[in-house]
Amino acid sequence: MMRKSIKMAVLSSILLFASCKNDNKSNEELMTDNLLLQEWKGPYEGTPTFDKMKVTDIKEAVEKGMELSLEEIEAIANNSEEPTFKNTIEAMESSGKVLDRVFAYYGIMSSNVSSPEFREIQAELAPKLSEFRSKISQNEKLFQRIKAIYDASQETPLEPQAQRVVELTYKQFEMNGANLDAEKKKRYAEINKELSLLYTKFANNVLHDEENYVTYLNEDQLDGLSDAFIKSARKIASDKGKDGMYAITNTRSSMDPFLTYSTNRDLRKQVWTNYYSRGDNGDEYDNNKIIAEILKLRKERVGLLGYDNYAQWRLQDRMAKNPENAMALMEAVWPAATARVKEEVADMQVIANELGDNVTIEPWDYRYYAEKVRKKKYDLDSDEVKQYLQLDKLREAMFFVAGELFNFEFTPIEEGKVPVFQEDVKVWEVKDRTSGKHIGLWYLDTFARQGKRSGAWATTYRSYTSFEGEKTVLASNNNNFVKPAPGEAVLISWDDATTFFHEFGHALHFFSSNVKYPTLNGGVRDYTEFQSQLLERWLSTDKVINQFLVHYETGEPIPASLVEKIKNASTFNQGFGTTEYLASALMDMKLHLADPSDIDIDKFERETLDELGMPKELPMRHRTPHFGHVFSGEGYATAYYGYMWADVLTSDASEAFKEAPGGFYDKDVADKLVKYLFAPRNAMDPADAYRKFRGRDAKIEALMRDRGFPVPQG
Ligand SMILES: [Zn+2]
Repeated sequence: MMRKSIKMAVLSSILLFASCKNDNKSNEELMTDNLLLQEWKGPYEGTPTFDKMKVTDIKEAVEKGMELSLEEIEAIANNSEEPTFKNTIEAMESSGKVLDRVFAYYGIMSSNVSSPEFREIQAELAPKLSEFRSKISQNEKLFQRIKAIYDASQETPLEPQAQRVVELTYKQFEMNGANLDAEKKKRYAEINKELSLLYTKFANNVLHDEENYVTYLNEDQLDGLSDAFIKSARKIASDKGKDGMYAITNTRSSMDPFLTYSTNRDLRKQVWTNYYSRGDNGDEYDNNKIIAEILKLRKERVGLLGYDNYAQWRLQDRMAKNPENAMALMEAVWPAATARVKEEVADMQVIANELGDNVTIEPWDYRYYAEKVRKKKYDLDSDEVKQYLQLDKLREAMFFVAGELFNFEFTPIEEGKVPVFQEDVKVWEVKDRTSGKHIGLWYLDTFARQGKRSGAWATTYRSYTSFEGEKTVLASNNNNFVKPAPGEAVLISWDDATTFFHEFGHALHFFSSNVKYPTLNGGVRDYTEFQSQLLERWLSTDKVINQFLVHYETGEPIPASLVEKIKNASTFNQGFGTTEYLASALMDMKLHLADPSDIDIDKFERETLDELGMPKELPMRHRTPHFGHVFSGEGYATAYYGYMWADVLTSDASEAFKEAPGGFYDKDVADKLVKYLFAPRNAMDPADAYRKFRGRDAKIEALMRDRGFPVPQG
């Protein structure tokens, strides 16, 4: 994943906020005392002083940063001169620099070196930041200036990048109600307030059902479970005051392995039922009525803006552009996915019969028998694979790929030259291989530790822009590998190696940026994971395999047969994975396209699944009453399709390389990759950019092949 830096969020939603006072210190005192507010110094155009940052400075710095940003915005809004691109849009792009700097530290404190002390400050700052952001486009004077420039640009377009910033900025305000009259604006704000309460209630209800439906096992009920799982279940039970018992909590991380390995079918059914009934238990924590209410309010709100439905409003600035395009993709893949489910169920039934288990496959059996099929058909010894995946060699492989495709060269920075927030963080300089031009610095925070959030992510401390002179990039990758004993190689799994490449793809996307204005560095939700997903594909190219995927003792490259096995395993259980995902994504869209006035959510879900021909052997990945992506907020509402949208692009773009004379290292295709898919970021409409790369729109055939589905004819 890529964590969209808070900086981007602030930049892309510049708002007004009542000026916050900064108690006793004068401006000058504050700016010199508080390190987090200061300009970055030292080589490479200055870098954050991560080594000297103090948690005690962050609150004051964020508040001061917001105050300064708002002063700048006020000055732009109240400019007595006629609005121009330069005095309004460009001035907005130029504003907020102090706050941007502060957020580089804030991000590190929240994700890489968090502490209870910081979390307290974070909780205190949250409503202030949300106030800073949430009064979106409420600055009437500012919006009128933007609108005047936008209207003029529709008559006489500006140069392409300027035009794009104007359109994105205007859209951002317009989509959030800036263009409404006073009465409608009032209703708009009321709706948002009601919605935010419903989102919280929805999330709390799911949380309640996750915490309150724990399945406790005794010693005789552990068959099939791994020692590590049993140990952790015992600990959880004991923490909950049930010493000597074993707790299966009502979360995916507990449910999934339990259903995969437990031999006790009745218990599997119970754990399954608890999990898929979250928010749907007919009690005070039931979410069905809340969902209906949310759908009504969303429809009313976009109605104020003149849209027929929420999906239309949401998708207008996404690559898919409208719900019809998103639906067309999902409906094209659906038949193949459900057909594959039939085959998977048949395979599982054979195994169940062989074992003498007298069962017909039910949803709580799917994971259990699928695992048996996996063992029989695709078994991979993950320990054997690991011997060929050394972390240092993988990093060299990534540098090699970056050199071949992007013409980048990575050179380690000597320790101490650039401040870091933890001794294990290493820094490399990125240069153009031919011209030697400095492009930026790459920070790598490799290992897990206390206070660091889980997972892997990429972020920037400074992004490329050129409108005020070229800025160089400070980008980082963050992982959670286990730190080895000194001198020992870190061996990682194939999945982890893929993630390592994925995050590096985000970093390359940052380094190759050639946009003029900050706003153009922003991401488009159904597009921004595509570039990083695509980069994963270079892990299994011959050049990487032969040079870098070598045995940690013998130095021998990974055997071709093992690579083949890994590739085959990637199509395993794709019927289940694709169908459970698509059922949720289709439901998300259909719920928002339906008339919500008398909607009965439970009935709607049942009928929609019937119409779709949902196989009875598996549920939706997220059933509606606990679909937090869509109803705990708006992040993925009518946007859950986006994962597959990005997958289609990934598969299709990787075939462009497969078909080229030079394969994955073909110079012409690589040039187009950088020029159209990476460098423009959001300076170009993603659909246009893709067309320029591929010479046509993306087709779904490549995705079907990747998932092992039959390719539709015609
Ligand atoms: Zn990502």
